[in-house]
Parts: sequence; C-alpha cells; structure tokens
Amino acid sequence: MQLTPTFPEQNISIARVGVIGGGQLAWMMAGEAPSLGLELVVQTPNESDPASPFAAETVLGAIDDATATAQLAKSCQVITFENEFVDLPELAKLERQGVCFRPALKTLEPLLDKYMQRCFLRELGLPVPEFFTLDPGEPIPEVEFPIVMKARRHGYDGQGTAILKDRESLEKTWERWGYPPVILEAFVPFDRELAAIAARNSAGEIAIYPIVETQQEEQVCRRVLAPAEIAPSIVLECEAIARTLLERTQAIGIFGIELFLTPDGKVWVNEIAPRTHNSGHFSLDACRTSQFEQHLRAVSDRPLGSPELLYPGAVMVNLLGYESARDDYCDKRRQLAEIPNARVRWYGKSESRPGRKLGHVTIPLNAPDFQLRKLGLEMAKTVEAIWYG
Ligand code: ADP
Repeated sequence: MQLTPTFPEQNISIARVGVIGGGQLAWMMAGEAPSLGLELVVQTPNESDPASPFAAETVLGAIDDATATAQLAKSCQVITFENEFVDLPELAKLERQGVCFRPALKTLEPLLDKYMQRCFLRELGLPVPEFFTLDPGEPIPEVEFPIVMKARRHGYDGQGTAILKDRESLEKTWERWGYPPVILEAFVPFDRELAAIAARNSAGEIAIYPIVETQQEEQVCRRVLAPAEIAPSIVLECEAIARTLLERTQAIGIFGIELFLTPDGKVWVNEIAPRTHNSGHFSLDACRTSQFEQHLRAVSDRPLGSPELLYPGAVMVNLLGYESARDDYCDKRRQLAEIPNARVRWYGKSESRPGRKLGHVTIPLNAPDFQLRKLGLEMAKTVEAIWYG
C-alpha cells in the first residue's frame, strides 16, 4: 500500500540540488532536472567531467573533499550523491551545521564499507553469503575455493572484486592490491544475477522498478534485461528485500540492489548501492519515470512517479572501452543509432580506457513475454558486434 505524501511545508521550495560527483550518473540526472524545474550544482574534480557542462554551477573538488562540499552547500538546498566514496566523518560535521544530505548520512553509514554492509544486511535478516574480514598483516586462514575477495572500500565495476580459484591466486591478488582491508566471502553459484531499483521519498512513498536480470563479465555489467524472466514469487521476494532495506535505512532517493538467484530458487543479496545504478539505466528510455527523475523527485520532496515499463521489455547494453584512446567513436555510434528503436546515450568522456563505461544503448522490446529474453539477448549481440567489432 502506498502512503499519501505529506511533505513538510518548508521543503517544497527545493529548487537546486547539489550532487557530489560529476560523471555519467550526474550527467543523466542533469538531463532530467529541467522537467522538474530543478537546477543541479555538481562537485567534481575536473571541469571536463560529463555532468559539468550541463550543471548550473560546478564546484571543483575531489569526491572526498569536504571543503568543496561545504562550498557546494552554499549554492543548493539539498546534497545528494553520485557515488559513495565520500569522507563520512567530515560530511557529518557539515550535517551538524545544518547541511541537508539525501540520503541522510545515517542511511549511508552502514553501507559504505562492504564488511559493515554485509553485517548490516545480516542483522536485518536478509540472506547474504558467508563472509569474514581479513585485515592487513593478518595471516590468510584456511578457506574453501572458489572464494570471492572484495576490497572493503572504493571498489567499483569489478575493481576490487576477485573470484579466486586457489590459495596462490588469493595471496597474489591481495599483494597486487597492496594489502587493503578486504572481506572474503563464499562464492555463490548463481543461475542469474538480478537487480531491484527502488526509490523512497521523505513521505515514505516507495516505488520499485520491474526486477531486471543483469549480466556481468569479469565482474563488470555488460547488459541488463527488463523485466527479468523469473517466477512471480521471486519478483515478490526481491521487492520485499527492497522494501525492507529502504524502510529500515529510512532511505531518501534511489537504491540499486544487486541480487543472486541460485538454481534452487533462493535469492541472496550481493550489494546495495545507495544511489542511481547501472542496472536502472534502461528506465531512461523505457519507463514512465526514469531512475534519474525518480531520484530527483525523492530528494526534492516531490511525489514519486510511476516506474512502469512503457514496452513489454527492454534491453540495455553498456558500451565499455576496449582500448586506450582519445576518440569519440562517431562512426560506431551512428551505426548503433541505426538499429531500429535503439537509443544511444554517449557520456562524452574525453578518454577511453579498457573497461571504462563510455555510453550505453537501450532498445525497447516488443514480443510475447516468453520471447523477450531471447530477443533481448539477440539485440545485445547486434549492439556488441558493432561496438566491439
Ligand atoms: P562491484 O562493487 O565492483 O560492482 P560486486 O560486489 O558487485 O563488485 O561484484 C561484481 C560481480 O562479481 C557480481 O556482479 C558477480 O558477478 C560477481 N560476484 C560478486 N560476489 C560474488 C559471490 N559472492 N559469488 C559469486 N559471484 C560474485
């Protein structure tokens, strides 16, 4: 049941939203701001970052530079996040001085460190794989292989996550990473990976997007199929996990919740991202309200929009860098745009590097339910054949 929004009078006037981060997520948010009558101010290290040209103002500063955030706070009513690599204790000082963060720092606190996040999820009674920490200088205990090692902080797009087959590769990988604090967790032999994109606003309204299937290669998301071809009972389970998380953390904004589905029909939580998420990009071109508009609605005290799909299905394919180059890949982008109904989103990054997310393509799918996944995978192949050659 959805609650009728009752917003505190004084917050209705939010007109400028500050975003810590100026990459593609902030860029896509900037594209949605004008339709809500909002302006974005971004804090980002370089003026050439994707969101900067589309923001009303840019504050130059690293993501964890709280002095820059103090400056950002002067030009907006509320501050939100594009990524979670922030300096929480420093931001807490600003919060105590009255700066409004959404989600609130108490929401973020248990989620920023992968070990603390796992402990928190377990306390909430949510299903997570077995895990334990390994600190610098500690001997590696006897473990079963394969095992998954994850840096406790600053991991993204598979950087800081490794699936290890034996003790030697575990030792070598930890050494190569420079012995940061890590968690070791049981490898989940999943059948599929799923994601729930869900939003909550300050009135307690919750909107959950269709549960999607995500496909990762070398720990990086390659494609997303919406909706996931799963039993209705699994959909309900994923939605219940999303609801529990948003309510228990009193979240305000979008959360991306990554899940594993095992062959016996069990759902496990992999990771929570307290922000807009790659697995929700399809919503920009295939849903009534995109995740970026939804996030802005939530953080600016507006009622949430409908997350429904406008088509029977959609597939989203990431365009990952496959070389180090300074190229805008005009020709490939033109070929991709010629795929019927395809929408190409190009992030305008000045440099390409292997594995770097440079853009994505969304294609709406019109087919009977039982053919959507097959069609989605075929369309993804077409996109990838053009992009990777
Ligand atoms: P990142 O924070 O870099 O996105 P994740 O923790 O989401 O890293 O892991 C990236 C990918 O690695 C997952 O999507 C999945 O394919 C694989 N992975 C992560 N943890 C496990 C696990 N416990 N068992 C099996 N595969 C895993």
